[in-house]
Amino acid sequence: MEDAADLVLAGGAVYTVDAARRWARAVAVRGGRIVAVGGDDDVRGLVGPRTEVVDLRGRMLLPGFQDAHVHPPPGGLEMLRCNLSDAHSLEDYRRLVAAYAAAHPEAPWILGGGWSMDLFPGGNPPKEELDALVPDRPAFLPSRDGHSAWVNSRALELAGITAETPDPPDGRIERGPDGEPMGTLHEGAMDLVAKLVPPPALDEHLEGLRVAQAYLHSLGITAWQDAIVGGHYDTYDAYLRAASEGWLTAHVAGALWWDRHRGEEQVGELLDRRERGSVGRFRATTVKIMQDGVVENFTAGVLEPYLDAEGRPTANRGKSFVDPDALRTYVTRLDAHGFQVHFHAIGERAVRECLDAVDLRHHIAHIQIVHPDDVPRFRALGVVANGQPLWAVNEPQMVELTVPFIGPERARWQYPFASLVRSGAVLAFGSDWSVSSPDPLWGIHVAVNRLPPPGYPYAEGADEPFLPEERIDLPTAIAAYTIGSAYVNHLERETGSIEVGKLADLVVLDRDPFAHPPSEIGEARVLLTLVEGEPVFQDPSL
Ligand SMILES: [Zn+2]
Repeated sequence: MEDAADLVLAGGAVYTVDAARRWARAVAVRGGRIVAVGGDDDVRGLVGPRTEVVDLRGRMLLPGFQDAHVHPPPGGLEMLRCNLSDAHSLEDYRRLVAAYAAAHPEAPWILGGGWSMDLFPGGNPPKEELDALVPDRPAFLPSRDGHSAWVNSRALELAGITAETPDPPDGRIERGPDGEPMGTLHEGAMDLVAKLVPPPALDEHLEGLRVAQAYLHSLGITAWQDAIVGGHYDTYDAYLRAASEGWLTAHVAGALWWDRHRGEEQVGELLDRRERGSVGRFRATTVKIMQDGVVENFTAGVLEPYLDAEGRPTANRGKSFVDPDALRTYVTRLDAHGFQVHFHAIGERAVRECLDAVDLRHHIAHIQIVHPDDVPRFRALGVVANGQPLWAVNEPQMVELTVPFIGPERARWQYPFASLVRSGAVLAFGSDWSVSSPDPLWGIHVAVNRLPPPGYPYAEGADEPFLPEERIDLPTAIAAYTIGSAYVNHLERETGSIEVGKLADLVVLDRDPFAHPPSEIGEARVLLTLVEGEPVFQDPSL
């Protein structure tokens, strides 16, 4: 049989994300592409003697998930180092740090990270805790969100940080009443120690990428946009190597880092990186501009000042890392060269500055606070709203470290996914892993419920939905994590839905979430992940 399929998946609940035909039962794959979508009868004629046939037994088949904002190589490296991100208690942190130090007596530094701010008074872990576990070697452990670091006395000593050391202009050394450094460094102050940490060698970047890719495939992710390629932790060469050696099985759009301390003169280098950066499944076609910080340490750019702990306005409106006028010039220039621009914008002023700077197909990631006047501008300007849905829950980081400092009105402008969708904006989803879990089913769960998924470690007691009026339905949430992110990744013609002619990037779930209550979406598990028809993850139970 000449046109027999290589692979047939039949008897399933196939949700295609194709508006013309949402549901099917079977899919046939040949040469890495989808050659038939339909009922079980429609694919029977394509089964030949060498065709592999998978009986889905009613389970769900989806297009592969695509993460529109994620940091895989450093996330993978964190998994290999002292990884605190799966724990959520000081007791567990003590146990994990002690075990890592004991298992790696040769390591000159204790590196890793992933601790949660809400476990420490004011979000600041003390050096004494680390000193008791690691007295002899320096320890440098960034927080979950990467905007603060926990260090021990040895690290402070090596960096020469004392009561006399001034705060850098873009950061803060957490101090006791006597001015002594207490063991937490915020934003730019992290660099005082980070610059002493030996940067990962190419081998380590490659190992991080390998571990991260396996993990993301196990969660059904087949494509992503790496939100930082370049800068301090440059993974450009690692991606090129993985792609040219053929083991980069994910489709990856790389967002080249815009150095905010330099100006337009860097455009030439970015063009050169794009030119050389198209290998295998890797494309370096995006530029990442970070426009502000985060709300929790008051560096997100806001229109009205932050409030203090008593609810009184301060004088602080956060940061604009790039001058808004310069931003307009840079974006126009990048746009003229055909670059997509990927903005980081958390505060409502930063979101507005980014919207002011664009007139073509770009995307703004995070969009934590969006002024209602700016919601319709996403559609009007063709700017994709790139959301991290897992953050839209009433976890302590939101309730204790965010809402009191932005006030009740602005608190209601957070993660306005339903408003954006109603206004006609294209919505894409991503995780920002290793800031938060890369599990797309957890993200979809929160987008639909605005409640933490079952098993989510950071939100004990968060049983009130977070701004439930901004919930979106399951089809919209799946679309954001598939075709929406495919659009952002310039992959929507090849992937993002199950249609004849598209690549067979597919995911099998252990159940059909449409047939279960929305409160159980986050319990669904991935059993099989295919890229171009080839398994890149398989659960033994399938
Ligand atoms: Zn990020």
